[in-house]
Amino acid sequence: MAEDAGFDCERAAEMVEELRSGFRTGRTAEYEWRVAQLKGLVKMIDEREDEIVSALHKDLNKPHLESFLQEISLVRASCLLALKELKRWMKPEKVPAPVAAFPASAYIVSEPLGVVLVISAWNYPFLLSLEPVIGAIAAGNAVVLKPSEIAPAMSSLFANILPKYVDNSSIRVVEGGVAETTAILEQKWDKILYTGNSKVGRIVMTAAAKHLTPVVLELGGKSPVVVDSSSDLQVTAKRIAVGKWGCNNGQACIAPDYIITTKSHAPLLIDAVKIALEKFYGKDPKESKDLSRIVNSNHFKRLIRLLDEDKVSDKVVYGGQRDEKRLFIAPTILLDTPLDSLVMKEEIFGPLLPIITVDKIEESFNIINSGTKPLAAYIFTKDKKLEEKFIKNISAGGLLVNDTTLQVASPHLPFGGVGESGMGAYHGKFSFDTFSHKKGVLSRSLGSEAPARYPPYTPQKLKLL
Ligand code: NAD
Repeated sequence: MAEDAGFDCERAAEMVEELRSGFRTGRTAEYEWRVAQLKGLVKMIDEREDEIVSALHKDLNKPHLESFLQEISLVRASCLLALKELKRWMKPEKVPAPVAAFPASAYIVSEPLGVVLVISAWNYPFLLSLEPVIGAIAAGNAVVLKPSEIAPAMSSLFANILPKYVDNSSIRVVEGGVAETTAILEQKWDKILYTGNSKVGRIVMTAAAKHLTPVVLELGGKSPVVVDSSSDLQVTAKRIAVGKWGCNNGQACIAPDYIITTKSHAPLLIDAVKIALEKFYGKDPKESKDLSRIVNSNHFKRLIRLLDEDKVSDKVVYGGQRDEKRLFIAPTILLDTPLDSLVMKEEIFGPLLPIITVDKIEESFNIINSGTKPLAAYIFTKDKKLEEKFIKNISAGGLLVNDTTLQVASPHLPFGGVGESGMGAYHGKFSFDTFSHKKGVLSRSLGSEAPARYPPYTPQKLKLL
């Protein structure tokens, strides 16, 4: 049974109990169950792709190609990877046994945690919902998915179609906003993976603490891009533009938030980014079908407040046009925005791109490190020494050299934040590990005693050691 839009908060405890008793039968831990669910997800993607694309378009005006490349194909690839690797992931991992226990064997068993909760965000509503669910299923858990109410078409699509492809007695969708999420957060979960802003992250962590439930918090932050003058201008500009405006019009957790470059390089970079933008979206981006819209009027107003702040309103060097009715804000570049302006203090999460200039590119490290740790940090350079310094000195969830956002596409890299940008990580095997308990097992034979171990502790025994 799907827990649909009319989710009854009073039923939250009952729902978790149902899932827990199903989990206790051991069914979800079986390899065959996990495989059947993952195959169900692949089938759902293959049969329902048009509906998924259309929900993403309805919620975010997301272009078809972006939906496919940045959400659907990634989720499908993750299912296939889990299907391919699951046997290997589930295998107990042999480790050396301690000499004191000889003869013995030691190994680590990955066991499912139990009943887990995934709370996802609106900006990549398909990817951010299913990617963690894949990990939860692969690790053998019962799972509840709470999609974001800010992407209602995708939320309702999940509630309608997921139960047709997976075992609904152990995998549920609960739709709803604050009231429903609050009600389910009161329950005892064995793990919670939350994606969204850090204010709600704190609410989730506080609720989890009451039950000693471990959490993964996938939060955001201001992801900087350092541009060194040695980098190829045109390639750099295209890769910045596609990572910013080509990712849901900047409404992506790892989209470039701001650029730092040298004073002399900034005008060249700005011209190159303008050229890239006009190639991508034409002279009038409002008419482009390839640019997502701002998700709703709250976020529109939030972004306009950043753009119209007195300190920055005269810093716009490109774009700045807006149309509230169409939830449109043009790709906008700001130059030399003061570091104490709102646009440089808050995560932007939209199409505004401030450029900060410095005399020497190394000064960028201090600017980045004086803020909270970002989810991603980027550098464009041909200078290997500068690249090494950046990797050594910049702490962020993940780093990418000479491109933006593509780190998300590798299942071999952990995806997650550090400090204010989050805790815990997932993707690929990291998702499986995140939703597993690593149970250490030591197995001894009953022979081969070491008498020194047992009291009474005589001086002779001490000499034996
Ligand atoms: P959102 O508004 O969709 O909220 C996220 C989830 O929190 C939703 O499911 C929502 O129902 C729930 N929620 C909202 N208020 C709540 C409350 N008071 N109590 C309990 N639950 C509540 O998404 P958002 O927060 O606007 O997402 C944007 C933020 O998320 C940005 O900061 C972005 O960087 C970050 N983000 C991070 C990642 C990542 O992978 N690290 C991915 C996407 C977005």
